Amino acid sequence: MTGRVIKSTGSWYRVQLHDGPSVDARLRGSMRLQGSRATNPVAVGDFVELEPESEGRYAISNVLERKNHLIRRSVNLSKKTQVIAANIDQAILICTIAEPKTLLGFMDRFLASAEAYGIPALLVFNKMDVYGPSEMEELSYREAAYQRAGYPCMRISAVSGEGLDALRAVLKDKVTLFSGHSGVGKSTLANALQSGLDLRTGEISSAHGQGQHTTTFAEMHPLDFGGYLIDTPGIRGFGLVNMEKDQVSHYFPEIFALSEGCKYHNCTHVDEPQCAVIHAYEQHQIAPSRYENYVHMLNGDEGDDPYRHSESKGE
Ligand code: GDP
Ligand code: ZN
Repeated sequence: MTGRVIKSTGSWYRVQLHDGPSVDARLRGSMRLQGSRATNPVAVGDFVELEPESEGRYAISNVLERKNHLIRRSVNLSKKTQVIAANIDQAILICTIAEPKTLLGFMDRFLASAEAYGIPALLVFNKMDVYGPSEMEELSYREAAYQRAGYPCMRISAVSGEGLDALRAVLKDKVTLFSGHSGVGKSTLANALQSGLDLRTGEISSAHGQGQHTTTFAEMHPLDFGGYLIDTPGIRGFGLVNMEKDQVSHYFPEIFALSEGCKYHNCTHVDEPQCAVIHAYEQHQIAPSRYENYVHMLNGDEGDDPYRHSESKGE
């Protein structure tokens, strides 16, 4: 028997059977992911094998190989990681140009992280109903920058309904991670896409108290028209993987594509002679903010790291 984990509490799991109902299952005590440093061997999105136990109860006996997974570093046990979700088809960053303004540095870090995790990413610009001429100019800059890098961009308004049908078409039959800073409209949007869908994407509720250890788990919310939204309570972005310096350029697709033209194969595109990336930057063939944020990340500047952000807020 196989199915997909759609909810995890840490001690039991809700598993959607293929072409069947969903059942509750627990983890077989002896089961461990081999070679994994994760504190949780099973995460939302995992495909698992189940074995019946007594009275309609099930045990997870095996986790099938993942195509990708999101992790966050565990707070107390520095070497340990928590798997937030697995087998994600796409990650959507909800952004706004105003009220609040999503920082370009945050967007670039998010997208580089998605590349590192092997998750296709899209940008969705919300609150189209409130933008004036200067915001529209800023929006055009961003769309040009990110489309050039290969990221699809969409314009929507969760309030007016603009662009929602196109967004539904993108979500249909896919498992989509919804991310974005607090206030960009994730909850409003989820509700507009499907009434009654109440994402808890914001901060960890104050009811949990500060300084208290609260472990949060992702949940997959089914969409009536097909597909799932993944909600990661208390985690606004996802944890940056530890990127080696020589890897950072791999996570900026348009920079990586240009690097073939650099004189040195190990060019870092910062101060080397005959660098195709610097040349493109000087000729305004790549977005200045993209190149500059690449250099920031290469230098290990913390910037607006979504992971650090959630850590300082959450636990
Ligand atoms: P979340 O923190 O990302 O879940 O954001 P919320 O869904 O709570 O939205 C934050 C605020 O933005 C609320 O006051 C919403 O009513 C408002 N909001 C969300 N989407 C839109 C939109 O498309 N247009 C406008 N004008 N306001 C929006
Ligand atoms: Zn170069």
